[in-house]
Amino acid sequence: MQDKHFVPFTKEMKKQGYTILVPNMLGTHFKLAEKVVRSHGYNVEVLDTSGPQVIETGLRYTHNDACYPAMFVVGQFMDALNSGKYDPHKTALMMYQTGGGCRASNYISLIRKALKKAGMEYIPVISFSLGVEKHPGFKVTVPLIYELLYAIFYGDLIMSLANEVRPCEINIGDADRLTERLTQELGDELGAGKNIRHSQIRKNYRMIVQKFAEIPIVKRDAVKVGVVGEIFVKYSALANNHLQRFLEKEGAEVIMPGLMDFLCYCMFNACEDRGLFGSNAYLYPIYKMLYKFMCRSKDEISKIITENSDFRGWTPFPEIAGMAEGYISTGVKMGEGWLLTAEMVELSSIGCKNIVCAQPFGCLPNHICGKGMMQRLNEKNPDVNIVAIDYDASASRVNQENRLKLMLFNANRVFKSVVHNDNDDMVA
Ligand code: SF4
Repeated sequence: MQDKHFVPFTKEMKKQGYTILVPNMLGTHFKLAEKVVRSHGYNVEVLDTSGPQVIETGLRYTHNDACYPAMFVVGQFMDALNSGKYDPHKTALMMYQTGGGCRASNYISLIRKALKKAGMEYIPVISFSLGVEKHPGFKVTVPLIYELLYAIFYGDLIMSLANEVRPCEINIGDADRLTERLTQELGDELGAGKNIRHSQIRKNYRMIVQKFAEIPIVKRDAVKVGVVGEIFVKYSALANNHLQRFLEKEGAEVIMPGLMDFLCYCMFNACEDRGLFGSNAYLYPIYKMLYKFMCRSKDEISKIITENSDFRGWTPFPEIAGMAEGYISTGVKMGEGWLLTAEMVELSSIGCKNIVCAQPFGCLPNHICGKGMMQRLNEKNPDVNIVAIDYDASASRVNQENRLKLMLFNANRVFKSVVHNDNDDMVA
């Protein structure tokens, strides 16, 4: 049923060059995606606002029982609109909608409510989705989907390699500088509006791996910490109080599962629904094709990584899905659902025994699939050290960081005893 506050984004608005604002979540991925969408004729801008006013504004325009990521997104939009930088009569907002039960589908109504409260209900809110809502001025075409997927693949590859290099780099900042440069160059290529051949994409994957492998490093053992959780608080540095920066400052190597896995999860679920409920008959072939394409692409990138460097390869997605077995059904797909549990099992399987589970305070689905699975995980993997951190507007940063420090203290103690025992074995 169509939202009663629905305002369509028309072809006329596109022609007039309306600015389309998009909330930020993952720097590299979203910068690449911005260039892709621009090359399709949309004047899109990914917001890079930061500071406490974002959540303060979110609190002003949403009910205080709305979930933290929802408040954050509303805050980012309303903060931008109130800044005076944009003409509200020539601005539209865009939000992704997965069609599931979590905020990724329901934010749009909250954003429209906030606009109404601010007297700006005439601003269109575009749903970026496979057919959840239709806007005559914005079309999700096949080339746009493919180019966005390539932006995400590049983003995941860059993020994964940068995270592996950063704790060992000799010249501090090398990995970040390379990330910045590659994002710019690959974004320009994707945004040039030409059809990019797959051979060129493969060449770029190899080039990315090679560039990161050339960064001078000093081999050092760092405690590996995986980050899982609700997608927004997991990735958004603004929402998680710069969790990754904090862990790296404390000497850890952060392993962040890629965005590609989340997209595979969405497609996997859509296909699963067909079997479980007989739904998605019309879109099922598209979901299946996209799922296969993403799984193949992930394997292809992983092969390029392992064949051309000493960096860690990636676990194939069907294997990750299989890891949920014995813990949770793959029919549990509200929020991050079974993927959250499966990612923790996968991290443990690759030797990353310390895990931060980042979740919005009061987010029931993610508490069930994250915190709720901890006991079972510990029973089956006694060496896993998991800490669940809640994020919300009133959560104390000091408290969050103290809990992380405690987790790192235990992690370092175990890590040192393992290294010590290994050395003793070598001497013997
Ligand atoms: S599942 Fe969690 S993140 Fe999603 S809308 Fe509910 S509370 Fe928010």
